[in-house]
Amino acid sequence: MADNEEVETFAFQAEIAQLMSLIINTFYSNKEIFLREIISNASDALDKIRYESLTDPSKLDSGKELKIQIIPDPENKTLTLIDTGIGMTKADLVNNLGTIARSGTKAFMEALQSGADISMIGQFGVGFYSVYLVADRVTVTSKHNDDEGYVWESSAGGSFTIKPDTDGEVQRGTKIVMYLKEDQTEYCEEKRIKEVVKKHSQFIGYPIALRCQKERDKEISDDEAEAETEEKTEDESGVKKYSEDEELNKTKPLWTRNPDDITNEEYGEFYKSLTNDWEDHLAVKHFSVEGQLEFRALLFLPKRAPFDMFENKKKKNNIKLYVRRVFIMDNCEELIPEYLNFVKGVVDSEDLPLNISREMLQQSKILKVIRKNLVKKCMELFEELADNADDYKKFYEQFAKNLKLGIHEDTVNRKKLANLLRYHSSQSGDEMTSLKDYVSRMKENQKDIYYITGGWNINSLFLLLAVADSICCGSQCYPDSLSCIE
Ligand code: ADP
Repeated sequence: MADNEEVETFAFQAEIAQLMSLIINTFYSNKEIFLREIISNASDALDKIRYESLTDPSKLDSGKELKIQIIPDPENKTLTLIDTGIGMTKADLVNNLGTIARSGTKAFMEALQSGADISMIGQFGVGFYSVYLVADRVTVTSKHNDDEGYVWESSAGGSFTIKPDTDGEVQRGTKIVMYLKEDQTEYCEEKRIKEVVKKHSQFIGYPIALRCQKERDKEISDDEAEAETEEKTEDESGVKKYSEDEELNKTKPLWTRNPDDITNEEYGEFYKSLTNDWEDHLAVKHFSVEGQLEFRALLFLPKRAPFDMFENKKKKNNIKLYVRRVFIMDNCEELIPEYLNFVKGVVDSEDLPLNISREMLQQSKILKVIRKNLVKKCMELFEELADNADDYKKFYEQFAKNLKLGIHEDTVNRKKLANLLRYHSSQSGDEMTSLKDYVSRMKENQKDIYYITGGWNINSLFLLLAVADSICCGSQCYPDSLSCIE
């Protein structure tokens, strides 16, 4: 045990404290999502150490195996999740788990007030706190290569403590122990955990091992018992109890499979596990490019724009880059232009070197070709979507701004993007029209199109009439062609 003097107490940042009491007190039945959130954090932490180890293999000296372990303990009513990821220093624990608020904390509470669902928490970057849906006390023991190990602990109520990890049990990574609430002990049942992991986390790229309790007759030979991790007890009837790890996510990476064999549900599950979105995607494109350069990609369009789409500071987490199935990085800005920052997906290159650094990526010709192809496929995806008026309407409501930004920034695709724009016209009613449709409906003698920026109402019409003398279309002015307004 650590000396009492070594235990430091911190107050949660006010909004975080508020969020935690909301999580604890709101009546909410879909509590299982907490497991998805902490598995997703573990996977991010594993991504980080794997990425660092590509340029400095000694980073893995503290443990080579990259995996997630789940240990239910029905006797003590705890659920433990261990990852061998990057871990947190003492400062990280203090900052990331309690004292520094992010924009998502407030945004999430506001979203909840306007009817959002708690399962959306991951999208707001505060997923960790969902552990308090099922636990009334939580400890997080973490060890980063650059620091000693520390234990964070909180039973909510506005404060948490930090103390040194005197047991030194975690070599590198993070161990979360959740002391389950009396009515949430289903989360230390193997069956329930398997169900939840299958539902929400089957596409995680690291093995998720569940420690299962088994029984077998004593007679079974030693060979057959090889996989068991720990002998436990032997009762009078000669039944041996032991525990064994079962891997819960053996699915092959989805993008490596043949698109013809993948159902829309599978794409949906993959999309949700990739993005933390709670809804299915709006559209998907799964393709491969072969020839001089080889890669596979999966691109998804979400149904909604993220709450912070144009917030510059936000880390971009949209297209994940893999090299020959090995995750490289998830915020590779070189892969997609900014105006397409709402497109989510995965790219898996056969050609890039595994130990590629960010600096090398900026220079990489291979990446430039991949980027060009991704943009081309996005254009195809948008054009296909435009064939379905309902879907396109949803898409346009959310992402018209991005298309318009693209028109400014992407000279190569300007024409294609312009064809994707829609506007209200005097004839279109509640719907919107494309330029092509508009032109096809133009009266024979109509030479010009006038467009009023701002809302279309009687005042703007008067305004237009008042300045009609000086209205120009292209290089010509037609003060008397106002009649052409459809
Ligand atoms: P998000 O993961 O969306 O940033 P969370 O509230 O889930 O938000 O987590 C807050 C932060 O705590 C993470 O960004 C990360 O820095 C840190 N963290 C959480 N879990 C782990 C973990 N298992 N290993 C390392 N760092 C973690």
